[in-house]
Amino acid sequence: MVGKIMSKATAKYIINGEKGKWEVVIGLEVHAQVTSNSKLFSGSSTKFGADPNTQVSLVDSAFPGMLPVINEFCIEQAIKTGLGLNAKINHYSVFDRKNYFYADLPQGYQISQYKNPIVGEGEITLDLPDGTKKIGIERLHLEQDAGKSIHDLDPSNTFVDLNRSGVALMEIVSKPDLRSLEEVNAYVKKLRSIMRYLGTCDGNMQEGSLRADVNVSVRKEGDVDLGTRCEIKNVNSIKFMQMAITYEAKRQVEALESGKKIDQETRLFDIKRNETRSMRSKEDAHDYRYFPDPDLLPLHLDKKLIEKIKKNLPELPDQKKERFIKQYSLTSYEANILVSEKEISVYFEEVAKKSDKKLAKNWIIGELFASLNEKNISISDSLVTSKKMCQLIDSISSGVISGRTAKDVFEIMKETGEDPKKIIETKGLQQKSDPKELEKIIDKIIFENKDKVDQYKSGKDKLFGFFVGQVMKLSGGKANPQLVNEILKQKLK
Ligand code: ADP
Ligand code: MG
Repeated sequence: MVGKIMSKATAKYIINGEKGKWEVVIGLEVHAQVTSNSKLFSGSSTKFGADPNTQVSLVDSAFPGMLPVINEFCIEQAIKTGLGLNAKINHYSVFDRKNYFYADLPQGYQISQYKNPIVGEGEITLDLPDGTKKIGIERLHLEQDAGKSIHDLDPSNTFVDLNRSGVALMEIVSKPDLRSLEEVNAYVKKLRSIMRYLGTCDGNMQEGSLRADVNVSVRKEGDVDLGTRCEIKNVNSIKFMQMAITYEAKRQVEALESGKKIDQETRLFDIKRNETRSMRSKEDAHDYRYFPDPDLLPLHLDKKLIEKIKKNLPELPDQKKERFIKQYSLTSYEANILVSEKEISVYFEEVAKKSDKKLAKNWIIGELFASLNEKNISISDSLVTSKKMCQLIDSISSGVISGRTAKDVFEIMKETGEDPKKIIETKGLQQKSDPKELEKIIDKIIFENKDKVDQYKSGKDKLFGFFVGQVMKLSGGKANPQLVNEILKQKLK
């Protein structure tokens, strides 16, 4: 294999070939399962994990004469998502039949949208380490999911589970604007975050709610025209997307440098062997014999409906980020982290509103996130609730405990979920903040270290740290450091 990824965090993915430098160009078609209790054209449940073929209506199994009925809620979800992508909502759209034969597609066609999708062009803003970048959205259309063929239950039979058949998907097609693995990562995460804020897709990649077809091409650095792309089907994690792109881009460079042409084709990513393999030459649209589904009328969307949905949109990550920066004096970097997931933003705001906002952001981005990483859990599963985090921060800002002691308290909280107040009391961790009590300790130290006091007074400033250390030791680490400093300075004058 030729080529190496050049480092630098958000730099373009450039492959150093034998015959020059190649730029990698990526476009994603994300399939996002619409959050909805029932399917796109039937009332069957969409619940994940049910026994095979228990959520299948006559429509989903394509019994002759069965007619699809559009699910209004799914339409609203698609509109919402379109608005969240700053996209144009089309007042007129059409459902088409995309014809192909496969065992898990009982209709013999998929109902999708082709020439007239429900959502047109839009954009997503990526927050990258060295700034923001806008990625164009080509379109968003609604379509049905197919069933699932199960090949590994029996050595000589394939089984078909139709629970997924007819579930609503949004296909969100990006422009070929992505230029690196980091951008792919940021794009998928941002798209998922927007849909989670909106409640239109849960973004659960393990359950297949979010999958992507990854389009990759390469071109000589500086070229204006795009190279021929290959499409890698159905990749279901960001890591696999990145692995597939890496393999595929190198394969294309090698082929081009040895004088071959890239055929536009559909490829499969083999996770175990970390390679992409040709599946079929790229079918053209006319192979699918698209035509408007005669069972479904074109969709006319009322302006008022769109306006109503627009008015009721929740605050989205970009807006929240701007507000957080102003309201809580965050840097852009901190704000990005705190709005990346809705649950995190809610937690942060609950704490920052009620207690010291600077401590709030530091404790959440620092200790709390470290504990979530360590336990590999999400913020909603943390035993340290926002209320308990407030209590902990309050006890720091009111001087009951020092920041240092608070870390010990937090260690206990994250394991047991105990109240910080209770931990502080039962362990006797309160700071000594009574000046008289501290004075006594300080006098004792000064009395016992007359020689050092003389040295300090004759100019050896560094000894100040020694005195502080002694006081902390004698107080069992509980003396209020600020007060100790003040009193010591006075006494050593
Ligand atoms: P198809 O139905 O053939 O998959 P779509 O329009 O649904 O076509 O999607 C095409 C995808 O391929 C888009 O995400 C687009 O950004 C991407 N794409 C188009 N041309 C290139 C290219 N030269 N290199 C990489 N990606 C590309
Ligand atoms: Mg496509």
